[in-house]
Amino acid sequence: MQEESLSLLRNCMVEEQLIPRGISDERVLASFRKVPRHLFVSPEHIDSAYNDHPLPIGNGQTISQPYMVALMTERLELKGGEKILEIGAGSGYQAAIIAEIASSVYTVERIELLAKKCESTLKQVGYKNVDVVTGDGTLGYKTASPYDGIIVTCGAPGVPSSLIEQLKVGGRLVIPVGSQFSQVLTVIRKKDGTVETSQICGCVFVPLIGKDGWKR
Ligand code: SAH
Repeated sequence: MQEESLSLLRNCMVEEQLIPRGISDERVLASFRKVPRHLFVSPEHIDSAYNDHPLPIGNGQTISQPYMVALMTERLELKGGEKILEIGAGSGYQAAIIAEIASSVYTVERIELLAKKCESTLKQVGYKNVDVVTGDGTLGYKTASPYDGIIVTCGAPGVPSSLIEQLKVGGRLVIPVGSQFSQVLTVIRKKDGTVETSQICGCVFVPLIGKDGWKR
């Protein structure tokens, strides 16, 4: 497909899937108009890269539906200049969307093969402000903490305590919490000594597997 048609599809995705459902942050919409989602999916899915659904990325994992990526990004309340941690790098698409706005992104992936592929895609597309880390993200990534925001793109049985610890006061944690089959998208805001929790909507993510997540 030609670059021109892909760019047209990208704009349609924004106009038809994101804006009508209430995504209104101009920074987030600009990211979606720019990031080439088709480069983050495998070649056989290029034609459906901008469609309104998740897509397989190998190893039984998926790249989320564009709307869900947008909703979660909006809830991070990025203004520019932030340091963000993502758990569940997958294809790297969500990290790229954030990297367009924030100043640095650390993204953790437990499956080494996906982490390697993600790193090479991000490099190929030209992102210099994303670090891909292989490991168990239920423990966060202490080395670069504290973070202005943390986003978990897999479903957790509960909120891992390390993630709260590694968040700055005033920071936001966006995380799907629930069973292995369905979750509630939850936003946790860290206050001085407490947290404030709000529930956004139902969602379905692949499981967060690790020490402070699902065992399998
Ligand atoms: N954000 C991704 C989608 C990720 S799918 C994108 O934009 O493409 C969820 C990913 O979380 C999968 O790749 C899965 O392997 C990973 N994952 C699951 N448990 C994890 C853990 N404990 N630490 C890091 N990654 C994990």
